Amino acid sequence: MKNITIAIDGPASSGKSTVAKIIAKNLGYTYLDTGAMYRSATYLALQNNLTEADVPALLEQLAEHPISFGKAADGSQAVYVGDVEVTHPIRDNQVTNNVSWVAAIPEVREELVAQQRRIAEGGAIIMDGRDIGTVVLPNADLKIFLVASVEERAERRFKENQEKGIPTDFETLKKEIAERDYKDSHRKVSPLKAADDAITFDTTGVDIDGVVNFIQEKAKKIIDKG
Ligand code: C5P
Repeated sequence: MKNITIAIDGPASSGKSTVAKIIAKNLGYTYLDTGAMYRSATYLALQNNLTEADVPALLEQLAEHPISFGKAADGSQAVYVGDVEVTHPIRDNQVTNNVSWVAAIPEVREELVAQQRRIAEGGAIIMDGRDIGTVVLPNADLKIFLVASVEERAERRFKENQEKGIPTDFETLKKEIAERDYKDSHRKVSPLKAADDAITFDTTGVDIDGVVNFIQEKAKKIIDKG
């Protein structure tokens, strides 16, 4: 049986990580959340009061506090910078609203993309992000580009926040998602866009199982062929 590489890209809150995690578990593959890596770099920048003008200092911070993944007590993925666990802090609003400028720094991308490619070397991996199919794994066996309306993505995130007890204003959330989409799609380096050979799937009105089944069927066909 062939070990394949699967790239899932798409805008903020399009359900990439939810479906990628399920598919990784079903196939016994490694799941790499590249957004968590850019969020971790942003956490380091904010902790050290760094701005776009402090790129060398940020790269130093990244070298001194390598990003790694482990398992939390409940089996979910935990994220670390150095030996500090940042799984929850990297989801804070402050990180979310600053991540686009950190992710637009070419030197940061160069470093994180190199790490992502090293992790993918063995195959049997499903990676999600913005530039996986275009830049990180241009030869991925399967490329999926997930989209959904801003309204629906904001609703999904709003529900998640409510379940977690995070107070959220729906209109603000919608505005923030739209702003992040704009910044991620219009930056000079590796903007968010579908690879020419990606399958674009609109998940508006489709539930998680529907998206998982769609991607998994495509993956299984490629695995069985190999
Ligand atoms: O996927 P998530 O929403 O956690 O990603 C956070 C941010 O990290 C994105 O808004 C984007 O700016 C950046 N990112 C990126 N390239 C990736 C993954 C995430 O630029 N491959």
